[in-house]
Amino acid sequence: MFWDKKTECLSRDEMTHIQETHLKKTTKYIFENVAFYKQKFDKAGLHPDDIKGLEDITRLPFTTKSDLRDNYPYGMCAVPPSHIVRVHASSGTTGKPTPVFYTAQDLENWVNCVTRNCCMAGIRQIDVCQIAFRYTLFTGAFGHHLGAERIGATVIPTSSGQTERQIMMMQDFGTTVLHCTPSYAITIAERIREMGINKNDLSLRLGIHGAEPMSEELRTEIEERLGITALRDYGMTELGGPGTSIECLEKNGYHINEDFFYPEIIDPDTCEPLPDGQTGELVFTLLQKEAMPLIRYRSRDITHLESEPCGCGRTLVRHGPIIGRSDDMLIVGGVNFFPSQLECVMLGFEEIEPHYVIRLKKKKRLDHVLVEVETAPDFWTNAPKKKIAELVQKMETKVKNIIGFSMKIDIVEPFTIPRSEGKAQRVVDERMKK
Ligand code: ADP
Ligand code: ZN
Repeated sequence: MFWDKKTECLSRDEMTHIQETHLKKTTKYIFENVAFYKQKFDKAGLHPDDIKGLEDITRLPFTTKSDLRDNYPYGMCAVPPSHIVRVHASSGTTGKPTPVFYTAQDLENWVNCVTRNCCMAGIRQIDVCQIAFRYTLFTGAFGHHLGAERIGATVIPTSSGQTERQIMMMQDFGTTVLHCTPSYAITIAERIREMGINKNDLSLRLGIHGAEPMSEELRTEIEERLGITALRDYGMTELGGPGTSIECLEKNGYHINEDFFYPEIIDPDTCEPLPDGQTGELVFTLLQKEAMPLIRYRSRDITHLESEPCGCGRTLVRHGPIIGRSDDMLIVGGVNFFPSQLECVMLGFEEIEPHYVIRLKKKKRLDHVLVEVETAPDFWTNAPKKKIAELVQKMETKVKNIIGFSMKIDIVEPFTIPRSEGKAQRVVDERMKK
């Protein structure tokens, strides 16, 4: 099933032509409308007219998450704030989110991309789509919602959580497609079993899962437990959310909407482009954005590109599974954060010492974070137990407010956390342990 068969099946020459046209336009547009890029171009002695074809893209500078952070809130915008019709954001360091902006045309393009992707996954007008991503500032829920709705499917915006209610809705409304993170799909599957419901009595047939990695093993478990086909969906706030790429039913890579997102793979250390098939960091240039166009945005996600023909008939290039990150960002239950972000919050408490370990654990298949942190020896010796408990409570609340989800904080005796003699091992990921 295709939403825009013509574009999704273009010949390579035709796609290159579209990409080149938009690349030239966007280069000129950002030069004229985003002071940040104008300065970068000037510094590199570069003029938009130097970009004559796709091969010239390597002359353009990269854009990074810290550029976005440094230019918060509107510095990366190419339009006046009054032209913005929607803002989304992901959690950012030190409490300031990383925002993304949309003009009316950007929203329309977003709908187009997510609708293509929903069709690629096989969603049809007769489907009942339950959107169990969180409806918040995050893009996930809204993106899936728009795509399923444009197809004409029935959309149930349950958001995440209240699992029993989710299941009741599935039963009562005959939900056929579940949109959520892979870890939430497993939680739902477990609760279905605990409630004594037979999966065959539900109408579920398809799961669209994104925001965090889904290994083949996890995919198989989700598919077996829920009796569905489970597909991976990729997206990122800075790129506008879902709609960048999704697996087709062949499950052999994520097709990229290349007329909007021009992909490159680079060596994350040297920043040199790598040929098709080689593994490196995925970099995207947003070819048709009005509000916040980004060039050569470093996703930090590690994968490879494949341009072999696909059984589904699409010619859109594919990327493989995301096999890691080239920075230290952690993804916990679909929400991401950086250890430095947590450190910043914790060290805002004067009783706390900069010795800590972040333990990522899996309990009942859900991600949990436990932070062990030392206090100043004086505080540890003199403070009554009640004071320590109060401190924990204050820290947990602050962490939740700033990072966006709960972590358990454990204050431990001074000098019990191993001291580093080189790069500190501050993150222990115990999630893969049996
Ligand atoms: P999202 O709401 O999609 O999580 P964020 O901007 O908060 O958006 O996070 C984007 C990051 O989430 C990506 O850079 C990537 O590391 C991770 N991510 C999103 N989708 C996937 C996926 N299908 N597989 C692996 N990681 C993913
Ligand atoms: Zn395909």
